[in-house]
Amino acid sequence: MEYETISKPDVDSLAVRPNLDDYEGIRSGFDYERVIDELDGLPGGGLNIAYECLDRHVAAGRGDKACILWDGKDGRQETYTYADMAKLSNQFANVLRKLEVEKGSRVFVFMDRIPELYAAAFGTLKAGCIIGPLFSAFGPDAIKDRLEDSGASVLVTTPELKAKVHEIRGDLPALKHLIIASHNEPPEVDDGELSWNDLMADASEEFDIVQTAPDDPAIMHYTSGTTGRPKGALHVHKAVLGHYATGKYVLDFHEDDIYWCTADPGWVTGTSYGMFAPCTNGVSSVIYEGGFSASKWYEVIQKYKVTVWYTAPTAIRMLMKAGDEVPKKFDLSTLRYTMSVGEPLNPEAVVWSEKAIGLPFHDNWWQTETGSIMIANYPVMPIKPGSMGRPMPGINPGIIDEEGNEVATGEEGDLAVRPGWPSMFRTYWNREEMYDSRFKNGWYITGDRARKDADGYFWFVGRADDVINTAGHLVGPFEVESALLEHPAVAEAGVIGKPDPVAMEIVKAFVSLKEGYEPTDELKRELRRFSRERLGPGIAPREIDFIDTLPKTRSGKIMRRLLKARELGLDEGDTSTLEDD
Ligand code: ATP
Ligand code: MG
Repeated sequence: MEYETISKPDVDSLAVRPNLDDYEGIRSGFDYERVIDELDGLPGGGLNIAYECLDRHVAAGRGDKACILWDGKDGRQETYTYADMAKLSNQFANVLRKLEVEKGSRVFVFMDRIPELYAAAFGTLKAGCIIGPLFSAFGPDAIKDRLEDSGASVLVTTPELKAKVHEIRGDLPALKHLIIASHNEPPEVDDGELSWNDLMADASEEFDIVQTAPDDPAIMHYTSGTTGRPKGALHVHKAVLGHYATGKYVLDFHEDDIYWCTADPGWVTGTSYGMFAPCTNGVSSVIYEGGFSASKWYEVIQKYKVTVWYTAPTAIRMLMKAGDEVPKKFDLSTLRYTMSVGEPLNPEAVVWSEKAIGLPFHDNWWQTETGSIMIANYPVMPIKPGSMGRPMPGINPGIIDEEGNEVATGEEGDLAVRPGWPSMFRTYWNREEMYDSRFKNGWYITGDRARKDADGYFWFVGRADDVINTAGHLVGPFEVESALLEHPAVAEAGVIGKPDPVAMEIVKAFVSLKEGYEPTDELKRELRRFSRERLGPGIAPREIDFIDTLPKTRSGKIMRRLLKARELGLDEGDTSTLEDD
């Protein structure tokens, strides 16, 4: 189906004038290196992400402003100002100093979204160490792989999660300190553990931030593991230029915004956009500790009067599944701007959100490796539903062929970016060769396939690994999944190429249904007919299976490689980030 372009709003009529009010003008004069002029730099020289996020606001007299509006699982609500966070992170930096944790050491956190997580992350950066966040739902093997690979010497976890660490601690000789933090009663600690609460009680609230240089390592994030074994992408302090500038121009932060990023800091969106972008821009962020529920999520927006909301397609599809009546029960009128990242955003989801919550989701594209948003839809630009949008100022992406030459407009190829932006990853930890292999002919190769249209909009086709070759056609799963999603019965769809002696591969779809629909043969036939009408017989799925839920990573991405492995009875490979059923 052709989706109508959502026209460009009249900038002068908007209640809040977008920071990027003239895309062409700002893009043409943009120099990423000069973003530093809008930040402060460390007193005495150097650059440190935590200083730009917290202390610079305190130094400028903005310390009383709310930094975190914490909403706990147990219903507690707490506010932490910028000054509070600056002090708590100073204390944790002092803790690391006292434990003689050296600059460059890897300090990992394995905790729920409690305030201590944020204090630990910023404190680690202030101490010149590298912060590595782990998602709290990881099992022992996933934690072990990442701690072992990174050689982490400190792990901060909680009383609820520490049993998982105990199972593997004997395998981690580099892990010197295990710190137990509790947001409730001070934790009881066993032998070989340290109490966060005791350490912090003894630590000063003053700390001279270690003089980190712009290119000193700061953050290590393991990728989601959608396509295989997760890789440890390493980022440097200079990445903060990217966090700040994309926060300003893509997330369109303004002084009074109440912002909610639904991603967990275990994934790069939860740090780049759950911590660094909002804090460098000095806005107030909601941190919701609980999990997904459509009505709870709408309630969070109502309760905190959220203005800017950043979430992911998988959550949006769940909101769609919950129905149009649910949002009507809440006052969502404070919302000004909504965005999505992490997976392709089906055009149906954009159209749905405009109708159901009154605002279209603005899709944007980036990866763990890129550290910040590369391609986006902006408040001032028409939205073409299904497109990732246009390049962020200062970013130069292209669509290239196998030799690394740009292809013609409208043609499909590898999505690549000209290297050199501030938040670009600097290595895959312990996998230097793999890092080198991602660069060709002056491009960084992202591993995604895409097209660019005549208006300069980028369209996602699929991950290079997922593209299907059927009877001479190259088919991206996204297109087929999006067509299926237009059918009222379909909640989610995952599409793979299944080997076939004649066609090389045939398109096979796995479909989960919305409530009230039965998985009958008749519905299967109906879906095949429906997708043939939209896509044509060459691309429409030849086989459709119904499935209760699609396998996903814990960050919410459909794992097509697993659908394929299961279909073909092959080894499932690394499933450390697989969501529990
Ligand atoms: P791994 O590299 O371990 O397989 P991953 O690629 O899923 O995991 P992330 O870095 O979290 O790990 O995800 C980035 C990828 O997610 C992108 O390369 C792209 O495939 C997909 N993605 C993110 N945002 C979008 C988007 N807006 N549209 C389409 N795809 C997106
Ligand atoms: Mg990837």
